[in-house]
Amino acid sequence: MIRLLASTGREDIAKVYVAEGTDGNRLEFVESIQPPLSRDEKWVLIISTLYGCPVGCRFCDAGGSYSGKVSREDLLGQLDHMVLSRYPDGRVPSKKFKIQFARMGEPAYNDAVLDVMEELPSRYDSDGLLLSLSTIAPSGREKFFDRLLDIKRDRYQGRFQFQFSLHTTDEEKRRWLIPSRTWGMEEMAAYGTEMRRGDERKVVLNFAIGDDMPLDPDVLLHHFDPHDFIIKLTPVNPTFQAMSNNISSKLDDKSVASNLEQAGFEVIVSIGEEEENLIGSNCGQYLKAYEQGTPLPGGYTYPLQDI
Ligand code: SF4
Repeated sequence: MIRLLASTGREDIAKVYVAEGTDGNRLEFVESIQPPLSRDEKWVLIISTLYGCPVGCRFCDAGGSYSGKVSREDLLGQLDHMVLSRYPDGRVPSKKFKIQFARMGEPAYNDAVLDVMEELPSRYDSDGLLLSLSTIAPSGREKFFDRLLDIKRDRYQGRFQFQFSLHTTDEEKRRWLIPSRTWGMEEMAAYGTEMRRGDERKVVLNFAIGDDMPLDPDVLLHHFDPHDFIIKLTPVNPTFQAMSNNISSKLDDKSVASNLEQAGFEVIVSIGEEEENLIGSNCGQYLKAYEQGTPLPGGYTYPLQDI
């Protein structure tokens, strides 16, 4: 059972919730819309899959502490809170009703994520249901990824967005940024190609590009076919971790995107609505601020309100 502790944000852009799970551990989850689209057109829910994260990426406030997996009930509890408070009958009218397993925690460490994916089409009445999962592709989780592929093919063909978080093409720097054993690019390419098979959606390769983090189009081309993979560039947000590790963003360097495009890749530069960035895009940050009783870094304008 999820117990809400605090929330912040704006109804017309994004709201962040801090809550306690059944076993007393804390997490955060988010809902957002993307102006000028209304909620009836697109509604995005982003939930936590672990309490903290054992990976400890250098720019992420979810890492650094880890106290376990979020149970199936509490994964659904995060979604139920957002869905049922707006649509008590569970009927979601949004043309695109997107659920992202992308807030706190590497989702591939939690098999309950797959149980929830199997259950969602019967839990909510929605023609617009879309799923999205972002992963660093941790080594040793091959069974998770095999089952994920089956679930996608059985239930979400054409309605599933899969993303690898790479952040740099320099392997040594990737090891530093993501201090955990992960698949290499070759394994990612093979799996991603399977995920893409028969689907119009390309697999996303996400780079939150920081200063001194190379993104070499030739390295990408060597492994990833632009027919199957699309590049998403996002800023490194001013998290507590990014600031203490001196990682800032070089997304304003236009040559990064144009070099990738010249190599044949489709590129999305995802800066997002400014207000949305201010209130909702940095995983683990709100929980950390709530627990420390500190304000958020980077000029955040929406303080957490206790519930
Ligand atoms: S970015 Fe993802 S994998 Fe890395 S510490 Fe944060 S939640 Fe974990």
